[in-house]
Amino acid sequence: MVDSVYRTRSLGVAAEGLPDQYADGRAARVWQLYIGDTRGRTDEYRSWLLALLRQHRCRSVLDVACGTGVDSIMLLEEGFQVTSVDASDKMLKYALKERWERRKEEPFDRWVIEEANWLTLEKDLEKPGDGFDAVICLGNSFAHLPDFKVSSPGDQSDHKLALRNIASMVRPGGVLVIDHRNYDHILATGCAPAGKNIYYQSDLTKDITTSVLLVNNKAHMVTLDYTVQVPPTEAGADPELSTASLQQVSALLLPAPTGGLHSSAERCIPGKVPAHCPG
Ligand code: SAH
Repeated sequence: MVDSVYRTRSLGVAAEGLPDQYADGRAARVWQLYIGDTRGRTDEYRSWLLALLRQHRCRSVLDVACGTGVDSIMLLEEGFQVTSVDASDKMLKYALKERWERRKEEPFDRWVIEEANWLTLEKDLEKPGDGFDAVICLGNSFAHLPDFKVSSPGDQSDHKLALRNIASMVRPGGVLVIDHRNYDHILATGCAPAGKNIYYQSDLTKDITTSVLLVNNKAHMVTLDYTVQVPPTEAGADPELSTASLQQVSALLLPAPTGGLHSSAERCIPGKVPAHCPG
């Protein structure tokens, strides 16, 4: 049922398999504008991530949803050895361009970029030895995975498979970081908090309109329509996201997909969250 109402907002829907929500290239262009200057990561976000990786003595990092490369580039500049993958070639195009333009810098010359999907990750990407010191999935990416499998909609089997595959890339004792928006706040209030994103500069965001799709009176999908002030030809493109409350995601992590994963869910990245913007 739900499958028949699911539409990606961008026109590029794959003929089969998982739709690439960025396939028409428009969203990828807008994304670059939305996140702003890649050096404009907020300090609290940057220092939180770097401190976490350094505390666990991570050197090699796999970015499993690198998109246009914003986190990967930040980590390369900080001296990490980075492998970046994403399912969308339109998003990867920007990362590839950056690698080419900065190829004279050694970390960029060694930067590995591959197209890969979480559902087929083990096939799409060769795992180095025991795995990566750290695997990151940032920028609310995990919530892009729909739970609409025709044979078993709503059982989160694709979410479990994706987590298993992602976790299998972490070396024993390594770190896995998955972050997503505060859906608990969205579900409780019906609105995504407007205002500045904690990750990006995103100075162009004017408003976010939130709709929650209920199926059998249960929140099933959250759609966030961003009003972003961009040049007229760039406007549009709002990927739809599946809901992921803190409790839901913790529950997925707890049965330890690889047999030894300790999970911790943090309410928010520590830092200065404006008082008017509790979400
Ligand atoms: N982490 C980046 C990108 C966020 S956008 C940033 O913060 O800027 C979300 C990304 O997740 C998109 O590039 C999309 O292509 C990717 N994605 C969504 N589903 C995926 C899947 N199943 N496998 C791999 N990548 C996926």
